Amino acid sequence: MSDPIVEKPGTTSFLSGGGEIGVLIRELDWASTPLGPPSLWPQQLQTLTAVMLGSGHPMFIAWGPERIMIYNDGYASLLGMKHPRALGTPFEQVWSDIAGDVSPIMDRAFDGHAIHMGDITFLMRDRHGYPEEAHFTFSYTPVRDGDEDVAGVFCACTETTESVFALRRLRLLDEMNQRTRSLSNPQEVMQVTSRLLGEHLQATRCAYADVQTGGNRFTIRDDWTDGAPSTIGEYRLDDFGPRIASSLREGRTLVIQDVRGEYAGAEGAEMFLAMGVEAIICCPLVSDQGLTALMAVHNSIPRVWRPDEVRLVETVVERSWAHIQKIRSEEKLRAQDAYKDEFLATLAHELRNPLAPLRTGLEVLDLAQGDAAKSREVRAMMKRQLGVMVRLIDDLLDLSRVGRGLMELREHQIDLRIVASSAVETSRPLMNSRGHHLSVSLADEPVTVKGDATRMIQVLSNLLNNAAKYTPPGGRISLTVDKRDDIATVCVVDNGIGIPEEKLGDIFEMFRQIGSTPRSSESGLGIGLTLARKLVEMHGGTILAESDGIGMGSTFTVSLPLAVAETGRSSGDHGTVRVAPSASEPLRVLVVDDDEDTVLLMSMLISMRGHEVEKASTGKEALATVPRFRPHVMFLDIGLPSLDGYDVARAIREQADSSSIHLVALTGWGGEEDKARALEAGFDRHLTKPVDGASIAAILSETAKRNRRSPL
Ligand code: ADP
Repeated sequence: MSDPIVEKPGTTSFLSGGGEIGVLIRELDWASTPLGPPSLWPQQLQTLTAVMLGSGHPMFIAWGPERIMIYNDGYASLLGMKHPRALGTPFEQVWSDIAGDVSPIMDRAFDGHAIHMGDITFLMRDRHGYPEEAHFTFSYTPVRDGDEDVAGVFCACTETTESVFALRRLRLLDEMNQRTRSLSNPQEVMQVTSRLLGEHLQATRCAYADVQTGGNRFTIRDDWTDGAPSTIGEYRLDDFGPRIASSLREGRTLVIQDVRGEYAGAEGAEMFLAMGVEAIICCPLVSDQGLTALMAVHNSIPRVWRPDEVRLVETVVERSWAHIQKIRSEEKLRAQDAYKDEFLATLAHELRNPLAPLRTGLEVLDLAQGDAAKSREVRAMMKRQLGVMVRLIDDLLDLSRVGRGLMELREHQIDLRIVASSAVETSRPLMNSRGHHLSVSLADEPVTVKGDATRMIQVLSNLLNNAAKYTPPGGRISLTVDKRDDIATVCVVDNGIGIPEEKLGDIFEMFRQIGSTPRSSESGLGIGLTLARKLVEMHGGTILAESDGIGMGSTFTVSLPLAVAETGRSSGDHGTVRVAPSASEPLRVLVVDDDEDTVLLMSMLISMRGHEVEKASTGKEALATVPRFRPHVMFLDIGLPSLDGYDVARAIREQADSSSIHLVALTGWGGEEDKARALEAGFDRHLTKPVDGASIAAILSETAKRNRRSPL
């Protein structure tokens, strides 16, 4: 050590800058270091120090045979916990943890070589108190004294750790993307993802878990390990302690560096230790349904997780979840597409089925002229087949209307007991033909709900028909209408072929039919239950299917909210068209349709009831007929060429004395919007084709009643 020398004032002006480090340098007792007081430093060292302190780039100087370090603020942050001890300390002592790597380089620089290192990796131990990988780019420049000997080394350096890691992360995410892109199985996606993530983080294990609904049980289906035992199995989230469980449920990533240190004795620590886990990153995935999945990275020894590592796990979880969602929705679309194809095939089949007997029926009718008994029989058969077809097409139209949000309910206070009885009547022929025993049990008091009677009859008769269809002949079927608290229930129970448990959720999906169900002439298109559920849901209710399995029968329960019954209106007002007897007084009826067969058939039906009929096939012709014929009622097709039904109706209504004409629209489309449009054009009623005899009869008797009130 050199003798203490009194510092001369004014000679340390080169130390005036330097920010925070400048203060430390000025305060340091340099006299007690081999460099001695700054005022006596050689000129080169003074100049270099001034340059360094004036620069924002990380730099240091290692001076003298002891390689004593002087550095600036930029370099201080790179030293981590080694700063400020490093100031005035020999280089090898400061970097003792990587001396093996850096000393030879420094030696070469002191030998007079200028050195540039593009990217060098160090495994540091004590810069931040934990082992870490760090990357640098630097240059060492020898500085010579007056004798041309190397007196020190000047170093400028940049730490590139962040960008090296960022690049690696990008590469990893890219590789994950490449490798999982073509996978169509979520489990495979997770296998590849866990392996790549685990290897990248050099972790002990990387596991992915599905969380069951309810959010407590989770299942690790697969995990990647570095050779450590697998953790595949079922776990309870609560076993990991309340703190961890609630943090994950709230979607917060769990980061534990040292289970023993942070969780010593705490609930949940044993769980991790038993799995050989001492450090963990666990990232939850919270969807609309709550906690859905977990990705866990384990380490068998304590580990300080860097923020970018935690962020990486989170990114991987988000991305793989998005990928899996995409796979699932594609799967769903594919399935939906397949169902649609199947549906079209079934549809064609189902529509053709009734056509064959109808055609044969016609031929038989032609041949059986005069054989009254045979004709009756054939006509009955043809009516049944036509009924099947009309029902099918109605269902299809209804479903499309519900699907497009165009279905409107005509809601009244309805007594479900009456609705159920109507449904029973509708289904009675099928029940009888299959020889089933049907028992009906109705509550003693009205079971009043707010709803559309026609739609509810449709729902219940669908359930009854299904019970009849899917129960072998001679079965027992029951229907119960009841109420409890503020809920009305209708239960249809059969002892038929039953439904396998795993299909119970499926049968309400569009076009779904159970593969094992024997196809019979009665099976439909697989849309009945879809429509039923939608209708019930529109009523604010639910429909539930239960079965103990194949051969064990099925139970369908419709639940609807009870209405506060309006006195005197709780029953009877359920909107079905009652079939009236034929009118006693003959009416003048004008039938307008461009389809000859329709006109012919309707005219026949009407004149058979003793009324006077005239026909027209265009709107013009109809308008010409009205003043002469003065019809009581007009059945008017909407889809007429040139002047359509709406135009005709409007023209008629414009005439002064036309208010007594009962105007009935006939259309193929029975949507609410069509009906509204018809009413607006001046129609009194609206019928959807094909019109049946009962509806025509009902209109005629309604007209007769109107006439009695207001004679022409
Ligand atoms: P469809 O009867 O026209 O096939 P649905 O939508 O009404 O269509 O029913 C869907 C499927 O649900 C049926 O094909 C049948 O497999 C099953 N299913 C419905 N009701 C019952 C029942 N009571 N018993 C057994 N299976 C049934």
